[in-house]
Parts: sequence; C-alpha cells; structure tokens
Amino acid sequence: MSNLLRVAVLASGSKGNATYIGIGEKNFLIDIGICVTELKKRLGQVNISVEDLDGVFITHEHNDHIKGLETFANNFDVPIYTSEPTWRKIVGVFPDIARKNCKLFRGEKTFNGVQVISFPTSHDAVDSHGYSFLANGKKLTYVTDLGFVTPVVQDAIENCEVLIIESNHDIDMLKNGSYPDWLKKRILSTQGHLANIVTADTLARLKHLPEEIFLAHLSQHNNNRELAFETTDKCLRKIGSSTKILLASQNEVVANF
Ligand SMILES: [Zn+2]
Ligand SMILES: [Zn+2]
Repeated sequence: MSNLLRVAVLASGSKGNATYIGIGEKNFLIDIGICVTELKKRLGQVNISVEDLDGVFITHEHNDHIKGLETFANNFDVPIYTSEPTWRKIVGVFPDIARKNCKLFRGEKTFNGVQVISFPTSHDAVDSHGYSFLANGKKLTYVTDLGFVTPVVQDAIENCEVLIIESNHDIDMLKNGSYPDWLKKRILSTQGHLANIVTADTLARLKHLPEEIFLAHLSQHNNNRELAFETTDKCLRKIGSSTKILLASQNEVVANF
C-alpha cells in the first residue's frame, strides 16, 4: 500500500483493541483498549509517538476498547472523539477522566483534507460505531464488534483501498466450545460479533475489493488464525481476487508499512 494509507493494528481481540491509522499527514488512533504503557511501546515499534497523534476515535464503551482511555486522556493533550451516548457511558466508568479532550463526534469531520466519517454498527453497546477515513480519493474503513452487516456498514466497506474488518469466530468452534449458552447466544446474535464465514461472504460480494484487508478481533477461544485466514482466502480466490489478507493479533503489532 502507498504511503497514503498506513495501518498498524497495535492489538486486536477481546483482551484489548487499539489501531493506528496514518492517512496523508494525519495520525489517528482507533480505540485505547490496552494500557498506555503498552500503547506507547507498540506505537514506538512503528516509530509513532503519542505527540504525533491528531485524534483518537472510540468505537464503543466495552472495556476491551477503552481500558487505557482514562490514563491517556489525563496525561496527553490529544482530542478524543466519540458520540454523546458513548461518552456518557465512558464517564460512568471513568468519572475522573479529564474532560478537556473529550470531543463529541458523530457523522463527519474534516482534518486538513482528511475526512473522517462515523457510521453506526449493530452491537450490544449503547451507540457503537465504525469509522471511514478518506483523503485524495482513497478510503480506509475500520469496523469490528458487529452482529451483522447492515446496509450502512455495507456502504462503508465498499470502495475502500484498505479495510479492517472483524472475523471473530468459527461458528462450529463457538457452538461446540466451552462458553456458557448465554454467551454463545450473545456472540451469535445480530448485536454480537461477525463469524469468519459471514465476513468472507460479505467480502466476496463487494463490488470493489480493497487492496488490503486486515481480519481483526479474532476470538482466542472460538477461532484460530489459519481458519480465519483460509475462510476469507478461499472465498476471495474463488472470485479471482488478488487482495492481500493480513491477520491482526492480540499480542503483536501488524502493520502495512
Ligand atoms: Zn471488542
Ligand atoms: Zn464490543
């Protein structure tokens, strides 16, 4: 991928999520679900420091997406964007979070030529969102933690050069696994998480496939890396696609630059 769209998934999965997005001259983060020490360390591995960041976008209030947020907000002067209902939830969890960098955001905002668009997702959070970033006619979309692909999500993932999308579980591994029934139901529901096969089918039906896809938020219990990769790879090869597939990881940085 050209220098225009730089992605480093710093951590991805139910133990914590954080992703660096570099687009044009701008540097952003999506979610801070790992502690700040780990965040700085992993950003350092791709030569980015917190001082370089122009903003942080939060997808939703689940712990694996906001774990490090309070420490971050209280120690750094970087604006943090999310919707009003999500902020209310976050402030409920972190009553002492510094308010000065808490910015309301929903819809669309332009940062010196980089357009950021938030779009709603179907998940069991108060107001979960994915994000698209556009500059110089190129588009990158980030979407995880969704029970199904709504028409709005479908639009957001069309015509991307780079797409980061959830491939959470293998349906049989989940059904036959050790999770309690209520949790299996939650994950499989329309407000849960995307199964490998659903992600693969969704991608294979895109009118315009991205050059690069990051499969993200893989379950450590109900998925494995080979299965997630193969499910999407098989569907994409069948339609003759040459899209590059990268697998995000819980424990190490996966970057395209
Ligand atoms: Zn999550
Ligand atoms: Zn979630």
